[in-house]
Amino acid sequence: MASSTTIVLVMQTDENYLKLDYKPRWWRLGAKSQNSQVPKGLRRAPSYIPIANEVTKRLAEKMDGIPLSLLPEAAMNAMTTAHILGGCCMGESPEKGVVDFKGELFGYPNLYVVDGSVVPANLGVNPSLTITALSEYIMDQMPAKKGLNHSDNK
Ligand SMILES: Cc1cc2nc3c(=O)[nH]c(=O)nc-3n(C[C@H](O)[C@H](O)[C@H](O)COP(=O)(O)OP(=O)(O)OC[C@H]3O[C@@H](n4cnc5c(N)ncnc54)[C@H](O)[C@@H]3O)c2cc1C
Repeated sequence: MASSTTIVLVMQTDENYLKLDYKPRWWRLGAKSQNSQVPKGLRRAPSYIPIANEVTKRLAEKMDGIPLSLLPEAAMNAMTTAHILGGCCMGESPEKGVVDFKGELFGYPNLYVVDGSVVPANLGVNPSLTITALSEYIMDQMPAKKGLNHSDNK
């Protein structure tokens, strides 16, 4: 099937939020599962993007294929993401973020977060390069361990 399937991915720059939890669910007979909800008062990011449908239909015509959407998107208006970012946003103050521009938690000296959770906005593109760049930026500002000369590492 993989050899005859083309996946069309569309990313959007729309500001959006998801609340994730991981807890026991009755439909899993008490086993835990990870689920997402749109936080109260916030708008759900659109799962129907007209231009994406149009492009996919035209592509299918040219390729003699069948255009399909993901079932949760078509049936439940539930958009899909593999780019879960921003659980510990970087910001200029505790009101605007969880970590500062050095990746250090506000109010918890010497506790750092260095991963995709510090990304403070929807990038609208694949995130791994930005995550890597931010990680390098944070590590570059990390004070050297006392008594350790940087040249010792080389
Ligand atoms: C199917 C899929 C396809 C993707 N494709 C792309 C793509 O083409 N391009 C792109 O840019 N991005 C892509 N992404 C997104 C990208 O992979 C993620 O945004 C990125 O890897 C997140 O980096 P991270 O360091 O925050 O988290 P992760 O890469 O998830 O790293 C977290 C690490 O913590 C470890 N960990 C978790 N819990 C514990 C624990 N308790 N103790 C110790 N270690 C723990 C995990 O094993 C893991 O190694 C894709 C994601 C998915 C799911």
